[in-house]
Amino acid sequence: MSISAPQPLPQPADSAARTGGTVTDRLVEANHRYAAEFQDPGMDARPVLRVAVVACMDARLDLHEALGLDLGDCHTIRNAGGVVTDDVIRSLTISQRALGTRSVVLIHHTGCGLLNLTEDFRHDLEAEVGQRPSWAVEAFKDLDTDVRQSMQRVRTSPFLLHKDDVRGFVFDVTTGLLREVTPRG
Ligand SMILES: [Zn+2]
Repeated sequence: MSISAPQPLPQPADSAARTGGTVTDRLVEANHRYAAEFQDPGMDARPVLRVAVVACMDARLDLHEALGLDLGDCHTIRNAGGVVTDDVIRSLTISQRALGTRSVVLIHHTGCGLLNLTEDFRHDLEAEVGQRPSWAVEAFKDLDTDVRQSMQRVRTSPFLLHKDDVRGFVFDVTTGLLREVTPRG
């Protein structure tokens, strides 16, 4: 698989494309509209529901809508795959020890881009740029197995204070439903 020649992306049918601005220009314009209506909620940085959600970065996964969350309710920690990497443990540790969260929710999803990758991605990358990345791709073939592995990484971390409420799910991008994954298969 080539790394440097991705498939052509669908053309955005947005105002920025029509007006010649970049997508970032569009985001900045949207922010101006947002700020015009914004009222300081006067909130503390500690999440109201004392929960941290670790999820894939997938664009089809709207965590706040899918989980009925409001502003200030939770921490959201996202990366490719929703994998529990050392950096996710770093964020969870800060979330629990400095900002008071107690529950951890892990969300992977159907149709994840990582299902089609292997560690060859890393080898190909090394061949292309001449430097081996320090990180693993963390590709996986089975969603449930990977959710279980992620739960296990949270439960066995020595840095976390709260490991009794750790639950893992697979989000179906075609139905919007979450399916819980049992800790043992
Ligand atoms: Zn994904």
